[in-house]
Amino acid sequence: MSERLTFLAVHAHPDDEASSTGGTFPLLQSQGVRTVLVTCTNGEFGDAPGGIKPDETGHDPDEVAALRQVELDTAASILRIDRVVRLGYRDSGMVGWPQNHHPSSFWATPLEDGAARLAEVLTEERPQVVMTYNDFGFYGHPDHIQAHRITMAALDLIDYEPTVYFNAIPKSVFKGWRDRMRENDGISEHPEEEENDFGTADDLIAAIIDVRSTNEMKFDALAAHASQISEDSFWMKMGREGFMATMVNEWFTRERNPRGLDGVVSDLFAGYR
Ligand SMILES: [Zn+2]
Repeated sequence: MSERLTFLAVHAHPDDEASSTGGTFPLLQSQGVRTVLVTCTNGEFGDAPGGIKPDETGHDPDEVAALRQVELDTAASILRIDRVVRLGYRDSGMVGWPQNHHPSSFWATPLEDGAARLAEVLTEERPQVVMTYNDFGFYGHPDHIQAHRITMAALDLIDYEPTVYFNAIPKSVFKGWRDRMRENDGISEHPEEEENDFGTADDLIAAIIDVRSTNEMKFDALAAHASQISEDSFWMKMGREGFMATMVNEWFTRERNPRGLDGVVSDLFAGYR
């Protein structure tokens, strides 16, 4: 098996690559795997510096996007990502926001458009392993759902079948984090998460990746997204050492399994090496 190994992750916004795969990217790179990140949107509707929300005065979506591009470059270099592809769609905002319907929003863009562009990248790179979100977009954000949809549609346009993983957090782990957050300050960073049934049933997890050797880079990459991940965030408040002691794994479910893998693997390239 001397073919070059390539990993490709499809993420919705600048910062998602760090939060869901910030350990996996440099780990795979250190193992000689080529790593490719596809970021679908520019993240216009993240916070502006100072935590200014999109509906508040002083929030300029284009300035936010420009800042987030710089943050993404920094994070990608920290995570040693070999190639970053920006599809450049406009952030769709959260569910129900008028931004959902902006003609250039990712959500309003026909699926075939994103799928065709992603299929082009897949055909160029021919990754054996592709990662994206589940059909709920991990937490219901329209851009995450659309990232899932274009990925699944693109897979139908290419001439081979990669192994596909969706990022996931086991319910048991989510519960532990929530308890920790409540303990810390009684306030959740993401109150909307409290309303949802978060996390994936533990027995559906098909890959548990030990990222202890690279989670310091993950911490630094998250910190590079300073406009979105403030000093007060769940992660930053742990501090570097707390983060490294706590965020020891990344988890995935397996959705396409051309190598016929069975059970839980500890390597996303199981079956290929
Ligand atoms: Zn996101």
